[in-house]
Amino acid sequence: MSDGDRPSGAGAPGRESRPDPLRDPFFLRLQAYEGLPAAVGGSGKDPVNAPMIRHWCEAMGDTDPAYRGPDAVAPPTMLQAWTMGGLSGHTDRSGAYDELSGLLDEAGYTSVVATDCEQEYLRPLRPGDAITFDAVIESVSPRKTTKLGTGHFVTTRMDVKAGGELAGTHRFRILKYTPAARPEKPQQPQQPQQPAERPRRPRPVVNRDNAGFWAGVAEHRLLIQRCAACATLRFPWLPGCNTCGSREWDTVEASGEGTVYSYVVMHHPPFPAFDPPYAVGLVELAEGVRMISNVVGVPYDKVRIGMPVRLEFLAVDEELELPVFRAGGED
Ligand code: ZN
Repeated sequence: MSDGDRPSGAGAPGRESRPDPLRDPFFLRLQAYEGLPAAVGGSGKDPVNAPMIRHWCEAMGDTDPAYRGPDAVAPPTMLQAWTMGGLSGHTDRSGAYDELSGLLDEAGYTSVVATDCEQEYLRPLRPGDAITFDAVIESVSPRKTTKLGTGHFVTTRMDVKAGGELAGTHRFRILKYTPAARPEKPQQPQQPQQPAERPRRPRPVVNRDNAGFWAGVAEHRLLIQRCAACATLRFPWLPGCNTCGSREWDTVEASGEGTVYSYVVMHHPPFPAFDPPYAVGLVELAEGVRMISNVVGVPYDKVRIGMPVRLEFLAVDEELELPVFRAGGED
């Protein structure tokens, strides 16, 4: 899982010999937390119960009959689910785990990734079982370097009990780490400085099912598909009618009138070629179908539901034109 500490290059300045990670004073401080409780006297918010089992099985697509009916058992892999605090959390966390985590944060190991989990099942859990659990900080690793960065693995072990009897253990490992520096881009050979090229907007995927739409855009026409059998309009373009199933269709040209049905303002994450914040509108066309596009002509924070907008075609670059919607009348 990790390559361990890499020795510095032979003769690296200032590092005569490789320090022993097992004697690293910081590691020894961390190691003092091994065996301390991570949670004490925890109890499951609900006893093992059939509705949670059913939801789990539906989410997992698990149709095993052992998890249904009067003699149902819970899927063993639900072990941790019975201990989870949900949005309101648990109040029985010990201070030791938070302290350990704080120490790692202070030392710069501020990132965290869950690396793996092991479970052991001692007896099946059944609806009605009341769950209690304790968790212990089982181990802290010496400093390790992985592809993600350098840090320490922290393993906690949770003992899950039903009716006071050990039913299973859940071992959970995280890596608290300092992210590795991104590899630097290779230096360009000495060339006259080019102005930074703005990334281009993503190209639409044009395929057999939507080629007619993009052919319309090229002629500055916004085409809506119409089912030839039941006349239902549809957008975006699809091979068949969702109402009647017919695959026959023709098109209607949109008048270009519409209103903002809904919108979001994108702040994060930034994508190349887009400068957040910007508004993404769901525009309801006069014909009744809705499409997602940019609302232009107003600042992002002035877009409103119900705002009338009008179609126009925006030349994004020399190869791409997109239908967008202008608010605020002409000009
Ligand atoms: Zn139809």
